[in-house]
Amino acid sequence: MTTQHPNIGFHSLRVYSMGRGPATQPADKLKAYMMADFDFSMDIEFLFPYINAVARKAQLYKNPPHIRFNFDHTLCVLHPDKGLASPVDDSKDARDFIVRLMAFLNDIYHRKDQIPPRYKFFSQTAITQILKLLPQTNCNECGFDTCMAFAAMLSRQQTIPGRCPHISRPVQEKAIFPIHDNDGKLLSTISLDIDNTDSVSALNSANQYIKSLEKKIRHLSHMKEGLRDEANKQLPNPLSQREIQVLQMLACGTTNLEIAQSLNISPHTVKSHINHIFNKLAVNTRAQASVWATQHHFV
Ligand code: SF4
Repeated sequence: MTTQHPNIGFHSLRVYSMGRGPATQPADKLKAYMMADFDFSMDIEFLFPYINAVARKAQLYKNPPHIRFNFDHTLCVLHPDKGLASPVDDSKDARDFIVRLMAFLNDIYHRKDQIPPRYKFFSQTAITQILKLLPQTNCNECGFDTCMAFAAMLSRQQTIPGRCPHISRPVQEKAIFPIHDNDGKLLSTISLDIDNTDSVSALNSANQYIKSLEKKIRHLSHMKEGLRDEANKQLPNPLSQREIQVLQMLACGTTNLEIAQSLNISPHTVKSHINHIFNKLAVNTRAQASVWATQHHFV
């Protein structure tokens, strides 16, 4: 197999205990909490912005340069020349894990021309500070149940301020640009203040518009359900819930076999439902039943 670059490898794997598991566990189940550290075969600092773009819950630190992230339910902390992983079960588990981690890093390494690097450094703001920016009404418009939950995620940089429509506009936005040497190694970054007033207000208007459309759709859908229920009640012999499901699928052009598979019933039962539907609607064909369903807001 030909590769563009030599693979990132590791050596000097060491595994040691960080103490014992929770004391509430029975003695025979107590397991040492193990940690593994190892050295890289090459300096991997150039890869940090790409790992930062791809890895789960990545946190990139500037000084000293290192990156933390979760991989395979294990916390990894990588420095340019060495790494650490925790917890691992034993030496074998540690080696297996580091092999998988190397495959992950090498995949990023060989695909890095297709990955937009993320140069954003992690700096955690206290949750209490973030709460001061929020009205604390727990209105749920951001998708989180409480302002506290939103603040906690924002503090970990796992959401963005713009998801709360009640947070005030930032005084200043900074964009971070990388400076590389001729070998593509990251030398430093420069942050520029960007006035994003226009884009923030355009985004807010778009969000408001989307919310008003969603409200209208919900309203129309309630109206449609009301009209449908009324039409069903007007039938001499109203359709059952199952017959309504079958009618809706039939009106969308679904075959008997597909209806049977979708509702997990036999084709024979579907046929019997369709006969009942035809009788109740006083129609003779699928086309007539579809027209009736459309006219009475069933689809
Ligand atoms: S949208 Fe803002 S105010 Fe509402 S719950 Fe989320 S953070 Fe709190």
